[in-house]
Amino acid sequence: MFPAILTHRRGVDKSVIRLLRDRTEGNTMIKVWRQVQENHVEDYHRKDLYTTLLMTLVKPGAIVSAFRHQFEAPPPQREMPSAHLLRHAFLLAEAENVQDYRSQILSTFGTVLKMDSTKKVVKKLSGEGKGTAEWFTSIGNEYSQIVSFILTCEESTECLKPMCQGVMDRFQLANQPVPKILYVDRGCCRAQGPTALESLFKTWVDGGMVVRLDIFHWIHRFDAAIRTDSHSKYAVFKSALAGAVMAYNRADLELLIKAVRAKDPTAFNRVTDEDMVRLYVSSERLKHHVRRVTLGAQETFRLVQIAIDELKGPAGLDESGVSLFKSTEAIDSMWEAQQRHLECMQDPPEMSMYRVARSTSINGVDVPYYKCLRGSNSLEGFHKFLPQMIPGVLSNMLSVIQSIS
Ligand SMILES: [Zn+2]
Repeated sequence: MFPAILTHRRGVDKSVIRLLRDRTEGNTMIKVWRQVQENHVEDYHRKDLYTTLLMTLVKPGAIVSAFRHQFEAPPPQREMPSAHLLRHAFLLAEAENVQDYRSQILSTFGTVLKMDSTKKVVKKLSGEGKGTAEWFTSIGNEYSQIVSFILTCEESTECLKPMCQGVMDRFQLANQPVPKILYVDRGCCRAQGPTALESLFKTWVDGGMVVRLDIFHWIHRFDAAIRTDSHSKYAVFKSALAGAVMAYNRADLELLIKAVRAKDPTAFNRVTDEDMVRLYVSSERLKHHVRRVTLGAQETFRLVQIAIDELKGPAGLDESGVSLFKSTEAIDSMWEAQQRHLECMQDPPEMSMYRVARSTSINGVDVPYYKCLRGSNSLEGFHKFLPQMIPGVLSNMLSVIQSIS
């Protein structure tokens, strides 16, 4: 006897079902079926070989025939249920967990929210759900948990309204405070009137929530005015933009430099702080141990203007004299269009955009390990990997929910 999931024809061992829970790339029921089949065949061949060997020994004239012992021929190999049936059993098993998944998602809240949409997840929908949706939109929180999600035919206010209203109602019912920020990759501001997002989240916006544009999305928009990202000045421009929006916290940076110096104080004694950062502090360490602050719209404007003016000239040419920008007009009109978002990227005053995840030690110096709450990066990363985490090449709604929970 073993714990099984019963379909109307056969029972499937729960341990087989669990194999499909593995959220790795390319985990499909066919793959699980092949693995189970291989284990069965291997097992059967061992029995088959053993009994066949015994049967040859009892042939007339063979040694053991004198004992007149009867050996039975091996039983025929039993056929495995199809991958289709295994998948059916998996979905039956998952249906039992829906309530748990639902409760998990419904009891997730947050202060710094992010909203992002993707088309990739929906392409995996098959069965009854096939072709019924185009977009997968989700709201995540600062802990990279999913607060809510919806599948829609289009990314319109009309379609997103039920999810947004539902989330706001849920926060209110649970006595949760209004979130402080919502990060988006578009629709942050408009010349006149409320934006689509402001009408979608009216209750929260009225309650003080601010809508912010994801900084890296803003930086990425400048790519449209650039000749090619393989240009030798591309990285310089990108880091100039990032540096124009955000600056490193001086105290955090000094602590990190001190920790890196502690590896070999005598050798590093003559190295300046600037060279320490340039040569010995990895970008990974900067990312995790040094917090960044937004510089304010005016300062960002000034710095971006300097970088663009500089790169329009000889500094923006590569070895063959080709300019980084497609044309002066292209970069100027892009810059002009993006200026209105300078305010949308600023951190709200008095708000800490980091939390200390843990304390780490670098060369014996205690250094906090920060997690950044800013931006929609984590949610985009999640959307990128979600299609691979959903088991099967094509899937149904239930698998999507299971993968999110
Ligand atoms: Zn904006």
